[in-house]
Amino acid sequence: MKAPILVINCGSSSIKFALIDQAPDTPRLSGIAERLGSHEARLKLTDEHGSARDISLPRATHALALKTILEHLEVHRPIGIGHRVVHGGERFTAATLLDDAVVRTIRQTISLAPLHNPANLDGIVATRRLFEALPQVAVFDTAFHQTLPPHAYRYAIPEELYSRHGIRRYGFHGSSHAYVASRLAEVSSRGEGGWLIAHLGNGCSATAVWAGRSLDTSMGMTPLEGLVMGTRSGDVDPGLHLHLARQLGMSLEGIDQLLNQKSGLLGLSELTNDMRELEQAASEGHAGASLAIEVFCYRLAKTLAGLACALPRVDGIAFTGGIGENSPLVRARTLGHLEALGVRLDSDANEGLGRGVEGQIHAQGATPTPEIRVIPTDEEGYIASQTRALIASLASTHQTEEVL
Ligand code: AMP
Repeated sequence: MKAPILVINCGSSSIKFALIDQAPDTPRLSGIAERLGSHEARLKLTDEHGSARDISLPRATHALALKTILEHLEVHRPIGIGHRVVHGGERFTAATLLDDAVVRTIRQTISLAPLHNPANLDGIVATRRLFEALPQVAVFDTAFHQTLPPHAYRYAIPEELYSRHGIRRYGFHGSSHAYVASRLAEVSSRGEGGWLIAHLGNGCSATAVWAGRSLDTSMGMTPLEGLVMGTRSGDVDPGLHLHLARQLGMSLEGIDQLLNQKSGLLGLSELTNDMRELEQAASEGHAGASLAIEVFCYRLAKTLAGLACALPRVDGIAFTGGIGENSPLVRARTLGHLEALGVRLDSDANEGLGRGVEGQIHAQGATPTPEIRVIPTDEEGYIASQTRALIASLASTHQTEEVL
């Protein structure tokens, strides 16, 4: 049975979607509705053979875009829908079947993710109305990191801020880290063991995983903490906000924009947030591009070394995401700072690995050293598999109850 699942990722002005079969778990139909609410709103669809359609939907709302997507699914209707939800707070530790009570609880976490959860919720509400008969599941970016111990998730700030306001580290990119961790257990001779996983895309985070469980991660209460990213600063001195406000007269909104949208690779290079373009510019002598790449790699290495504290043993390091899967330069520069962890890169294997291809790139020697692997991520496939598994378990519980 193909049992297709529709995966939906609703942003404030876009909806990404993919219809994913059980096997092979590659999208049968995927696409994006973007610039929703504007005159230029459009829906782009790609089918399993790669042929694309571009449909203009002037002023389309999320609901209208979803309805149009539904019309294109008519021939192969999904058995369920999986929604990406950015923040699940402490309430959601796993994928959860959506009902009115769950929607209300997700609404209560809006204060923790004011930029992301409202858009995710709009999508959920509209989709539940349109696909009333289908089971729908929320898969949370934060859920995989709910196994962090308190010493990893608590900030050293007054207790009440945690107990009354939920201020703690949550971590994100959970679907990607969870997928890569499960894939590592399949392909590595070290099995589940201790892994440092670097998800490097426009957003970047690193996670320490032991026996398939997240024990620490670089993102915190928001996806701004941790590594240098495309346009996000990652860690800065917490005193910076005060300084910017007092000395430069910046507003809260201005500081928010500065750290989320004007910093990171873009801010350092004064050129672009795109690693491919930075590598090109650096090779042509652009000093800002070289500095941005160096800061990115050093800070990543420093974070990976710090995350090693969470593990009894480092069996390997895995790279994923657009940069992790495609940039031998970033992998080599980062690992060059990690000799203290005993890693030894096979430079030819690193350079020779196809772009976006799974592979191992550590030097083989008499003494075992940590493995270094590239694992292309599959967040949509993970959301589909979580959704399918939950629907199947509910169906079997239902059957058992009927028999009893
Ligand atoms: P993602 O958000 O996972 O799609 O990743 C986007 C990032 O991956 C951007 O910074 C791209 O420049 C980067 N990227 C994609 N392909 C390459 C490549 N061949 N070399 C270096 N960076 C790449």
